[in-house]
Amino acid sequence: MQSILKEYFGFSSFRPYQKEMVEKIIEGNDSLIVMATGSGKSLCYQVPPLVVRKTGVVVSPLISLMQDQVMSLKQRGIRAEFMGSSQTDSTVQSRAESGQFDILYMTPEKACSVPASFWSNLLSVGLCLFAVDEAHCISQWGYDFRVVYKKLDKLRAILVGVPFIALTATATEKVRMDIVNSLKMQNPYVAIGSFDRTNLFYGVKSFKHGQSFVQELVQEVSKFVRSDGSTIIYCTTIKDVEQVFGSLEEAGIKAGIYHGQMDNRARAESHRLFIRDELNVMVATIAFGMGIDKPNIRQVIHYGCPKSLERYYQESGRCGRDGIASVCWLYYTRSDFAKAKFYIRELHSESQRKAVVESLMAAKQYCLLTTCRRKFLLGHFGEKFPADKCGNCDNCISTKREQDMSREAFLLMACIQSCRGKWDLNIPVDILRGSQAKKFIDAQYDKLPLHGLGKDYSSNWWKALGYQLNLFCLSPKAYQFLSSAGPDHQPRLFLPVNSEMVDDEDNKHASGEAGEI
Ligand code: ADP
Ligand code: ZN
Repeated sequence: MQSILKEYFGFSSFRPYQKEMVEKIIEGNDSLIVMATGSGKSLCYQVPPLVVRKTGVVVSPLISLMQDQVMSLKQRGIRAEFMGSSQTDSTVQSRAESGQFDILYMTPEKACSVPASFWSNLLSVGLCLFAVDEAHCISQWGYDFRVVYKKLDKLRAILVGVPFIALTATATEKVRMDIVNSLKMQNPYVAIGSFDRTNLFYGVKSFKHGQSFVQELVQEVSKFVRSDGSTIIYCTTIKDVEQVFGSLEEAGIKAGIYHGQMDNRARAESHRLFIRDELNVMVATIAFGMGIDKPNIRQVIHYGCPKSLERYYQESGRCGRDGIASVCWLYYTRSDFAKAKFYIRELHSESQRKAVVESLMAAKQYCLLTTCRRKFLLGHFGEKFPADKCGNCDNCISTKREQDMSREAFLLMACIQSCRGKWDLNIPVDILRGSQAKKFIDAQYDKLPLHGLGKDYSSNWWKALGYQLNLFCLSPKAYQFLSSAGPDHQPRLFLPVNSEMVDDEDNKHASGEAGEI
């Protein structure tokens, strides 16, 4: 093993988990490898075929990435090849069947469609592993579900005795279970690395859509581009991409653009310029995705909340690959959280819809958090951060103090109670803000003693408080507050100010008008 590592890859030692993994795979164990991008997962399936001198098959969703891998393996003297669905060269297939390759990459479509004779031939000449890269694609709980991945389990019955290796850079407990179950893995050996990217700073701010915010964003970015390294700005729509790109250009910043409606050539050109540091900023939709392996990205900005924390972790994780301090800012607007309806419109299964909604709600929770973002993010991936504060996120370094929100909490809860909990927060908040809308007058909500008592805060402020109370209802602090309230005793409730409340301070007192429903 050691000499192969040196001879073919030029490395003098394995990373701690790699050695164990390679040994387990050679012993024939099914294995699950959950490690951050760049941690060296591919070596785990690249070494065993060279040690046991049998073919290893690797399935991956990205053709370009597989082709890159094949090229670099060939340069190292390893017999690697790629087999895709559209490939017309049948000699690759027949050479593969006769065991002429060490490592054979395939699209999942191809793996599911080759004739059974292909596998039986390969089995008889020697197949030492079947690896599924980007294995989270198997799970609807992952951020990149692909139906064809689900069909890979058929191969389990065909490839009897061949260890299955699943690899992914991001996986929650649910995704992990899904991978193991879908691939029918037997008692897999599992290696889970830490997801903590200590050099990344995490921060969140809320914003209001419009040109003035885009100008603000451009100013933030321009401060950065004077220093070394590049920035990615992820937008949720192509329209936003174009608007931000236009403003950056106007400000004289060298920016590029990347989205799904551009043709392949224009996308490749944009990507190339960015990789070669000829652009400072890439403004993109999430189409600018897997395979961006640029070490010196110093900043990833999300202009709009991503669909899930898995996605956020992946996308923000593209910065700071070189280990140097880098920052991840997420700008969200409340309407981002209402997009679930839009995301699920083409989904037919109830469980898929549920997964999408829950993923978005976790992302919402991350945005509205007042405690350590890193701890929350890692917790989402099942990893326990050992302290309460990381010292490298906006909430940990913030000097925002908790504020006495007893009066506001009472008002909001009393108002919700007056509405008999029938509505979500919209109506109670509009009552507090003194709405004179016809619907309110008809329902005589304007006669309620609470009507208009909360004019001083915007509706977003009240909703943010509602959100915090929900969270705190589960805590001993809120329980104590609610249960000890009485005529002789007026408990106080101190709550942290979250990002929406801070950003809203300017509007306080200014907004007497209640919002329309
Ligand atoms: P992943 O698949 O986890 O994203 P890769 O397999 O692409 O990671 O490896 C990331 C980088 O780490 C590559 O440049 C690879 O050459 C390097 N690498 C992997 N294993 C070792 C090792 N044992 N020693 C030194 N470098 C390694
Ligand atoms: Zn923190």
